[in-house]
Amino acid sequence: MKNIEHIGIAVKDMTVSKDLFSKLLNTTPYKTEKVETEGVETMFFKTGETKIELLSATNENSPIAKFIAKKGEGIHHIAFEVKDIEAEITRLEKEGFTLINSTPKNGADNKKIAFLHPKSTNGVLIEICQEKAH
Ligand code: ZN
Repeated sequence: MKNIEHIGIAVKDMTVSKDLFSKLLNTTPYKTEKVETEGVETMFFKTGETKIELLSATNENSPIAKFIAKKGEGIHHIAFEVKDIEAEITRLEKEGFTLINSTPKNGADNKKIAFLHPKSTNGVLIEICQEKAH
């Protein structure tokens, strides 16, 4: 595991949260991206070496819609950058963690990503991600 690449925050209203986080971080988002297969719209802010990823639902069956219904808005996941995502998945499975994605999938922001099940990580949804080669 390397640095915290980003922190994902579930929000109800992207327009409201765009204003809020722009003021908070004193910068504007550098990217918005819909991941239609996941039912999410994402918006990225860069703050130093770390990013903030806002996530909102694009439909009511979206995992983000379900998360907000259950827990309300707030921190959704913490993402760690890794050098070799396949090797890291193998290592984590050997250590006994439950992976939601045992093969990497395509995420926003040009990344291969995989999630660990929060049941095996004290209730914290953990993402590991690796930048795709350009
Ligand atoms: Zn993420």
